[in-house]
Amino acid sequence: MVELNPFIDGEYRKPVKGGVRESLNPATEEPFAAVGWGTPEDVEKAVAAAKGARETWGRTSLAQRKAILKKIAALINKHSTELANLEVQDSGALLKKAMGDCFMAANCFDYFGDYDEGFFQESVTVPPPFAAQGTIVKEPVGVCAQIVPWNFPLLMATFKAAPALLCGNTVVLKPAPQTPVTALKLAELACEAGIPDGVFNVVPGGQDVGEAMLAHPDVRKISFTGSTAVGRKVLEQAVKHFKRVTLELGGKCPAVVFGDADLDLVLDALIFAGFYHQGQVCVAASRVLIEEKVHDELLSRLAQRVKSLKVGDPSDASTHLGPLVSREHRERVLAMVEKGRSQAQEVIRPEPPPGKGCFLTPGLYAQVQPDSLLAQEELFGPVLSVFSFRDEAEAVALANHTRYGLGASVWTRDTQKAKRVASRIESGTVWINEHHILYYGLPFGGYKESGLGREFSPYGLLEYCELKSIYHDEEPLRQKKFWYDFFS
Ligand code: NAD
Repeated sequence: MVELNPFIDGEYRKPVKGGVRESLNPATEEPFAAVGWGTPEDVEKAVAAAKGARETWGRTSLAQRKAILKKIAALINKHSTELANLEVQDSGALLKKAMGDCFMAANCFDYFGDYDEGFFQESVTVPPPFAAQGTIVKEPVGVCAQIVPWNFPLLMATFKAAPALLCGNTVVLKPAPQTPVTALKLAELACEAGIPDGVFNVVPGGQDVGEAMLAHPDVRKISFTGSTAVGRKVLEQAVKHFKRVTLELGGKCPAVVFGDADLDLVLDALIFAGFYHQGQVCVAASRVLIEEKVHDELLSRLAQRVKSLKVGDPSDASTHLGPLVSREHRERVLAMVEKGRSQAQEVIRPEPPPGKGCFLTPGLYAQVQPDSLLAQEELFGPVLSVFSFRDEAEAVALANHTRYGLGASVWTRDTQKAKRVASRIESGTVWINEHHILYYGLPFGGYKESGLGREFSPYGLLEYCELKSIYHDEEPLRQKKFWYDFFS
């Protein structure tokens, strides 16, 4: 049994109130980890540590901070097998998905470890009559509260921590209650890499821990990834306590398939985009929009592929879908399907196989009514909703007929059409003949109710910086400053 505690001020510390919670492996529903469970008292300690370390880390040279990020990347690579196995047990991820996440996490720390230092200081010449040298300095915001979901436990913690740490901030991170293990391990590795004590703290816990982080007066910035419903509460708290905030929220992402696309490629893509990690991905292609002339053919091929997907042991290389994260989540997905299925044609009904484990066979619905639950609500499970469209205008209208706007893909051989459609889709990311790829040099985030602000790229880094403008007159002559005559 893995035993861990909150990671505060450079070490694992028993929670103040001493509670322990078992983490279940969703494939077996047996406990595999016992985790010291945080409460607001632990948040108090973690924020105090982060506040205490703020000055030192903020003033550590950029070169040193970058070197430490690169060491974290190397340590993630070194421990990737261990981390991936923990992630499989904690979240039900397929082993190959978990290994991919470790690669992406190391890659993210590497990317920010190599970041161009020019970003942090820009010069602007202030023209006459106010002749001065202007400098825009990007300073750390301070203590950042970071709250993450359970679908990519290590990667979400990395996406939050790496840019915040690069910019000189200190961090108190709360993993999701379902998956606390790898974020704690990440903080341990960060310490081993040379992150000073108190800079990176992780407090596992539930809603009370999150709420204490949001309300804490010494927290200056909140970065949240999770559902739109909780995101709304987080935003209210941020406004109430006057904190900077970034929100990465839900999605109901369309894959728009035109008749001229390479349908063999599209078929592989739809399976990958819709069912990767059992569909528990914010940018999963959960809505498949198919041009009328190829709709029936593609739907029937899709149904055959969905039926052939193998659900089972996540460590078995031949498995396509592992378990959902928890029994509770599976019940939630099934309840939504039950509520929504009458407003669609049921091609394949998702079903929980008998026996232990939170498994769910994949489902497929066609002719989904555009205002119905299966078209509008984020199921966050292995269920695709298929629609047909007549022309480009209808495709765009259907794609945008949602309160979300996180990701979308467009499938066609016609470059001009692809660009036209991409420009009209209301979404933070649009892939053309691709889905799910992610690079840290491009901003990631949502339109509409999918979020506020961005992660990655210079725009994402700005969310972790205070901007200071310095006007410097290097030749301060009184006769130059005619505006001082105002009082003469
Ligand atoms: P969730 O919103 O239920 O929980 C997210 C985190 O918020 C958890 O750590 C949870 O404990 C915490 N939390 C819950 N209530 C809180 C409160 N009142 N105050 C502070 N913290 C609170 O989401 P989930 O079920 O863990 O994850 C699935 C959701 O995450 C989906 O909606 C998915 O689309 C979204 N998601 C978005 C992105 C993105 O980048 N946009 C990425 C991954 C997941």
